Amino acid sequence: MRARVQPLDPATARRIAAGEVIERPASVVKELIDNAIDAASTRIDIELVNGGRRLIQVTDNGCGMYPDEAVLALQRFTTSKIRHLEDLSRLTTLGFRGEALPSMAAMAQVEIITRAADQVEGALVQSGTDAVPAIRPRGCPVGTRVSVLRLFAHTPVRLNGLKSIAREMQQVHEIVARYALAYPQITFQVQHDGRRLLFAPTCADLMQRLAVLFDHEVATHMLPVDWHSVDLLVSGAVSSPSVNRATRQRQYVWVNGRPIRSGLISIALERAYGALMPPGRHPLAVLGLTLPPHFLDVNVHPRKSEITFLHERTVFAAVQEAVETALQRSVAGDANWRSDETLAWSSPWQATPQIGESGTPYGQERAVAATGPWQPLGQVGHSFLVASGPEGLLLLDQHAADESLLYTQLLAADAGGVELPEPLLLNLNAAQERWLDVQQVVLADFGIQIESFGRGKGLMRTVPAILVDRLGASHFLDAMYEAMQRLTPQAAPEDVREHLGAALACRTAIRAGDRLTVEQVTALVQAVSQQRLGYTCPHGRPTYVLLSLSDLERRFMRLFPLDTSL
Ligand code: ADP
Ligand code: MG
Repeated sequence: MRARVQPLDPATARRIAAGEVIERPASVVKELIDNAIDAASTRIDIELVNGGRRLIQVTDNGCGMYPDEAVLALQRFTTSKIRHLEDLSRLTTLGFRGEALPSMAAMAQVEIITRAADQVEGALVQSGTDAVPAIRPRGCPVGTRVSVLRLFAHTPVRLNGLKSIAREMQQVHEIVARYALAYPQITFQVQHDGRRLLFAPTCADLMQRLAVLFDHEVATHMLPVDWHSVDLLVSGAVSSPSVNRATRQRQYVWVNGRPIRSGLISIALERAYGALMPPGRHPLAVLGLTLPPHFLDVNVHPRKSEITFLHERTVFAAVQEAVETALQRSVAGDANWRSDETLAWSSPWQATPQIGESGTPYGQERAVAATGPWQPLGQVGHSFLVASGPEGLLLLDQHAADESLLYTQLLAADAGGVELPEPLLLNLNAAQERWLDVQQVVLADFGIQIESFGRGKGLMRTVPAILVDRLGASHFLDAMYEAMQRLTPQAAPEDVREHLGAALACRTAIRAGDRLTVEQVTALVQAVSQQRLGYTCPHGRPTYVLLSLSDLERRFMRLFPLDTSL
């Protein structure tokens, strides 16, 4: 049986965090969506005229109300969702205060047209000056339409406080998107002045809805999150580290179906990315938590957009682990991955070896298969490497990947240079001589030893072990030039190390266009399998891209057909 709308007893009403819920058109939309979802609707239509100043109308196909309930619903502290304060600890609805509709009625004219499933006819109820609004019969489908007319017409301060129509509509869009992500199975539509701003038809799952609400490029880079413990479920999707933003705007979080803002969850999320995320950048995320209602206090914020977790640490750890798992899955795969060796090596692509001028020609050396879950397939455009694994397809930028590997190795190594059979002769100007002199310690850290060889000349006797066959005099001079350009003379040794390391890595890395030996390909693919490869090169460009099986499925439109009957 559906619960009926009733007044809360005064004691309960007083303890509920009351406050101003109607600040702008978007807050009206939010409250009306809450009500439509609580009424078990599967379709919610939102229509605004003149940025919501003239009209905000939300139509749903939910359970509807009896006429007398609609009258009651317009009064303060009347709700069908709780009876007593204790009910908050087993709350399953978004609303509970019985405040939204009366707050709207105080700021605008409100009309409710509603029909419950067992009624042959609907009813129209209008808020107004009358103590008890009149009920008029009205033909309508089962469900509810709430119209909010001339919002803030009698409160000029509020009206003047509104931003431009475009801004207000942006906020409406943002709110509806939040709900649309949390409820993929509900159809949402937003229209403004007769133009459709958003249409999200019912979807089988979140990934499908992402493809509708996020731009295509971003949607294909979202990794599914699916983690649970006994009483906590974390699900949704997070962006692969190559897709990031300067703000946290694109982090959508909901808890038990309630969209909220949560610093705690954002921090746990970002902790999971660690060094994968460039500094100052933030991942995109749509994350839903499900936990028993008594683990939460939803009654701490007037607009119900913040909540308190009773076990913050558990929640933090759960979110971090859930996201870590998603990121790991996308890169290296699980230990129980079946090897796709046979498949990869019998592919027709391999018939024309694409790699190798020197060394073993690619495709003829089966012993190379020891690359972990990723099996090299070939080189494309002499610049990109392709590998396959049970999780999908891996694409590497050979220059960026090698550069990133060299950089990490250079900065990790301490001293241990190896002596060159033939020292390198460096022609130096006075400024370069001084710089090399000042930076001796940093150079020694890299394993580089340069001795003076008369005026304007230096001899490089040792080089970092990983650069033995790679570093030429011109590489070094170019790298030094770059580091000198970028740094002030007083730069800290750490900064010099970083800049010089990055410049050396860039100058000596495999270049785009180079043909590679099978050993070189194997080494790069192996670095991904062993999670040694940074996600970006020192310049911030991605080193590899993973096309997961679900990405491939999506690209080939292996989707559940969208329900277009609506
Ligand atoms: P709350 O949602 O906190 O209960 P509201 O003022 O938003 O308070 O709504 C009051 C009551 O009116 C709700 O408890 C609900 O029973 C009823 N109601 C409001 N909107 C709808 C709707 N769209 N469909 C069915 N019932 C509704
Ligand atoms: Mg409500």
